[in-house]
Amino acid sequence: MAKVVVIGGGVIGLSTAWELHKRGEDVIVLDSRTAGMAASAVNAGWVSPAMAGPVPAPGLVKTSMKWMLDPESPLYIRPRLNKSFISWLYRFWRACNATSYAAGLEATAVLGGGTMEIMDQWVADGVKFEMHDFGLLYAYRDQAAMETDLKAFQGVTPYGYAQPTAMYGDDLRQFEPVLSDELVGGYHVKEERTVQPVSLVKGLIASLQNAGVEIRNGAPVVDLEVSQGRVVAVRTPAERIEADHVLIAAGAWTGEIGKMAGAKLPIEAGKGYGLDFRPAPVKPKQSIYLHDDRIAISPFNDGLRLSGTMELSGISDKVTARRIGAIQKGGKRFLNGFPDDAKPTQVWAGMRPMAPDGLPVLGKVSGLSNLTVASGHAMLGVTLAAVTSVQMAELITSGKTPDVLKPFSPARFKGIV
Ligand SMILES: Cc1cc2nc3c(=O)[nH]c(=O)nc-3n(C[C@H](O)[C@H](O)[C@H](O)COP(=O)(O)OP(=O)(O)OC[C@H]3O[C@@H](n4cnc5c(N)ncnc54)[C@H](O)[C@@H]3O)c2cc1C
Repeated sequence: MAKVVVIGGGVIGLSTAWELHKRGEDVIVLDSRTAGMAASAVNAGWVSPAMAGPVPAPGLVKTSMKWMLDPESPLYIRPRLNKSFISWLYRFWRACNATSYAAGLEATAVLGGGTMEIMDQWVADGVKFEMHDFGLLYAYRDQAAMETDLKAFQGVTPYGYAQPTAMYGDDLRQFEPVLSDELVGGYHVKEERTVQPVSLVKGLIASLQNAGVEIRNGAPVVDLEVSQGRVVAVRTPAERIEADHVLIAAGAWTGEIGKMAGAKLPIEAGKGYGLDFRPAPVKPKQSIYLHDDRIAISPFNDGLRLSGTMELSGISDKVTARRIGAIQKGGKRFLNGFPDDAKPTQVWAGMRPMAPDGLPVLGKVSGLSNLTVASGHAMLGVTLAAVTSVQMAELITSGKTPDVLKPFSPARFKGIV
């Protein structure tokens, strides 16, 4: 039984700890703050493996230029004269091409294939969390954009995802009565699910703790002790923990931890915002993506969550009132019956871990035989947590990289600044 130290108790670290525990490993999870309460608590909760296209996409540079001029737009890049950020942006820009996009989409669609089965297995294992199978409705103001996206959906159908059918006008409103007349069309991906994100991380934490796995909060990793090509111990301010294997799953903070072992893991924070309303001011029948405004709507048992925006502004939990206001405005404008005076019970910011090519970073860290990383899941961390956990547990216990993980190897960043 090997001792595996998991750095970071987000949905990726917790789920991988669970799969490692199931394989008989001795696991400990360290979190600098409170496990589960970073990005993994504050997101839309969609389990949407068909959404496999990476963030850097052909045409994005043009759209983002337009967005940059609008303070309420879904994307903001704060200019920073920082060598590694400039290098990250350059790589991101280079990845906005059709070939990289198609390769990333294929790899992600293949990786996400077994997602629902693994989540069902967690339920069967006794992990308790709120999960809905009401699907995900994509709704559009711009019909041309919808036709383009529907066509693009064909990119994932060869990997087992069903092609959704288009609905227009009244048919769309009959399907989802809360949508305002401004939405002209949409399509429903019925296989996608929605989880209440806090319930998922809390469910994993409870199952791990019941199984005797230690999760240490307030334990920031400050150093990795390397000797003869291995990480022999992990240091927090309070102690030195010896390890047979170390997994970095520290979300947006992954780059900082990598540096402690001399590894280059270029992960930036892609900040998103959300608003919770308890009880729900309107009750959609399913999760909805307001495509043109990039707003996610998630109905949970105890309320409604609206979320969105992508801000490349470094690591910070700061909430910008203007961005929150823009999301709320979208909810009011596009959802029938949304009261003008509805006040969110909570607003929050979460940081998506973003690699410059938009793909997860999963695998062995070059030059160190017992160090692996699982991060960079961008908009798909909740979605891909299940498959990540199983494949990473397989890699860690067998020492062999499963084929499905090969496109996500951290070795692709060799030689970067
Ligand atoms: C607005 C928004 C909406 C989203 N919607 C969705 C969605 O619908 N579906 C989906 O699949 N994904 C969604 N995402 C993305 C998803 O939330 C993330 O990809 C995912 O939560 C990342 O999980 P993680 O475990 O890698 O990181 P995190 O949850 O951020 O966890 C990392 C942990 O590492 C810890 N840590 C940091 N530094 C250290 C250190 N030095 N030592 C020890 N621990 C450390 C942190 O405290 C933290 O708990 C959304 C994100 C946002 C912001």
